Order: sequence, then C-alpha cells, then structure tokens
Amino acid sequence: MNKEELEIIKQNALKEHIPIIMDDTLDVMAKYLTQLKPNRILEIGTAVGYSAMCFSKFLSKDGVIDTIERDEERIKQAKENIKKVGLEDKIKIYEGDAVEILPILNEKYDAVFIDAAKGKYPFFLKESLRMLNVNGIIFADNILYKGYVMSDYNKHKQRTAVRNLREYIKEISENTNLETEILEVGDGLAISIMKER
Ligand code: SAH
Ligand code: MG
Repeated sequence: MNKEELEIIKQNALKEHIPIIMDDTLDVMAKYLTQLKPNRILEIGTAVGYSAMCFSKFLSKDGVIDTIERDEERIKQAKENIKKVGLEDKIKIYEGDAVEILPILNEKYDAVFIDAAKGKYPFFLKESLRMLNVNGIIFADNILYKGYVMSDYNKHKQRTAVRNLREYIKEISENTNLETEILEVGDGLAISIMKER
C-alpha cells in the first residue's frame, strides 16, 4: 500500500460523507499501536476500509485484521479498496451485523476498534472483553458524540445512543481489570488497556 493510494481512498470517503477516523484520533492510536505491535486486531465498523488500512501498518509480521460491516454498498467499496492497495491477506471482512457476528467469533485480539452503532457499545464491549488478550487495548471512537455525552442533553433521536455511550463509559471506568482514559480528540476516544483477567 502506498501513501497516494491511501490518500485517494480517504478523500473519496470524505467526499461521500463517510465518517472515517479523524486524523488526530489516528495519531493517538498510532502511538499505542506502534508500542503494541498487535498480532490480531478486531474492528467493528469497516465502512470503506480506510481505518483498517491505516492500522495495517502497525501489525506484527503475520498479523491480521478482522473487520465487521453490515452495509452492502460499503462492503463492496471496502473490498475494492482493500484489493486496490493489496491488503487482501491482511484484512478480512465479516459481512453482517456485528451483534450477530461477534458472538460467533472466538479469536484472541490484541487490539479492538469499536466504531459502529453507538447504541450497541455496551454489547460490543462485553464481546470485546471476552476476546481481548492481557495487555490488549480497546479503543472506542465517537465516545463523546459531539459533546452530547458529557452535557445534560438527553432529548431527540440520539437519546438511546447517548444513554448507551454513558453506560459504556461507566463500565470501562468501573472495571478494575482495565486502565482507562477518555480523550477529547476527534469525536472522543476511549482507550482501555486490559491489565489482568
Ligand atoms: N472505521 C471506519 C468508519 C466506520 S463508520 C473508518 O474509520 O474508516 C461506521 C460503520 O459501521 C458504518 O459503515 C456502518 O454501516 C457500520 N455499522 C454500524 N452498526 C453496525 C453493526 N451493528 N454491525 C456492523 N456494522 C455496523
Ligand atoms: Mg468514528
């Protein structure tokens, strides 16, 4: 994969208003992933494959990424993009709803990137914790959701999302096996390191 190809995929995604990972969020994750050298990464929410491609350069030599997407059009684009940059043997797409796919996965992961339906974050957390190695990291994007999560905002159609994001924060904060920080980069990024089981 070269930089130019990745940049074109990024610009096309932005043009189509696909909510790809923000640069400052990626910068923070890059620091952790460089240290971690993950062998296996789980991603929930592939979109067109942009973030998975970015993460691929931090994998250990034989490392792979499992990524889940339910939207058929995006799956199609992601496959094309992944092929274009020659990462077919590094990135495996699981097609379907993560709520159904996660329970049938049984791998061990060094890193998880949660970036899909906000109302499902507590469920994604439970499934991620089940498969996370000790010293592994769970990153959750959009955790502050435009500031709604930390304000007294609880109206409108985002209410369920906000309630579940708050629940996610509560669970990672109270879990004594995790070391957690929440950063105001991008749309909010939660980082939880599993210290012990
Ligand atoms: N991680 C991507 C962006 C993901 S955008 C990047 O940074 O490049 C969120 C994606 O999650 C959307 O494409 C949406 O279709 C998908 N999604 C949302 N809920 C999902 C679910 N329950 N199961 C599978 N995919 C889901
Ligand atoms: Mg996101």
